Amino acid sequence: MLTFNDPKKLQAWSRLRRSKGEKIALIPTMGYLHEGHLSLIALAKKKGAKQIVVSVFVNPVQFGPNEDYDRYPRDEKADFAKCRKAGATAIFFPTPKNMYLDGHSTFVNEESLSQGLCGARRPGHFRGVCTVVAKLFNIVHPHFAVFGQKDYQQAQVIKRMVRDLNFDVEIALAPIVREETGLARSSRNTYLSDVERHDALAISESLFALRRKVRKLGKLPATAVEKEIAGHLVKNDLKPDYVEAVDAETLAKTDTVKPGTAVLVAAYCGNTRLIDNIVL
Ligand code: AMP
Repeated sequence: MLTFNDPKKLQAWSRLRRSKGEKIALIPTMGYLHEGHLSLIALAKKKGAKQIVVSVFVNPVQFGPNEDYDRYPRDEKADFAKCRKAGATAIFFPTPKNMYLDGHSTFVNEESLSQGLCGARRPGHFRGVCTVVAKLFNIVHPHFAVFGQKDYQQAQVIKRMVRDLNFDVEIALAPIVREETGLARSSRNTYLSDVERHDALAISESLFALRRKVRKLGKLPATAVEKEIAGHLVKNDLKPDYVEAVDAETLAKTDTVKPGTAVLVAAYCGNTRLIDNIVL
């Protein structure tokens, strides 16, 4: 597996691989890799990529001033070993300095899907995400990129950016990988104490309960669903940031929860903000 730090070197390598007719996949991550990330590599393999490039970059531009940029977990050595074992062919560890040159002044703003949900609570977050992903697309010029459904809004925002700006990249979505308990795997789970890890199960529990209910009843009023989930979270010592039923494509709020609806949750477990979702 090759290691790159310099965007220009990766760009030159990728251009050469593409010219040989090799199919290139990109998997953008912030590192501290877990089974969720590795499932994206597996999907890239399954889709026939010859070159699988994993980028590991805690992107400062997508963090707010009071967020966890400084304490975000990092372990380059372990990430390298996991990527190699999973079958990635290149790993990209850029630095904030070589990604954002002095005087960097160009940013990408998606102005519709990024407004609500996490976008409303984390001002500037999706501007940072879109900017870094656009840069990675230009550096790697992959045939396709793989994103996880875990970050549902992010995936929809990226798809819209690709459509609106004519990026020549297909977006593949991989399902959420969970621990046996149901907890969605996340690098931030490492912040959780044992008690918090137990409390956090209320999130996936409530989403699975909703799925059972929708299978049985077909349709439910969104306000009642949102209230019930938020209540279950509070009962388990979580602090809901939002619980919203939305149209799975446009992310517009919906009145009725039915098959095809996406229900997105963000909640604080102690100081840790967790997100999860279900598409019914
Ligand atoms: P992150 O390192 O958290 O920025 O995530 C990098 C990519 O991995 C994003 O596309 C995430 O949606 C995806 N991802 C993170 N956690 C999971 C998970 N539990 N299951 C599937 N994909 C995930």
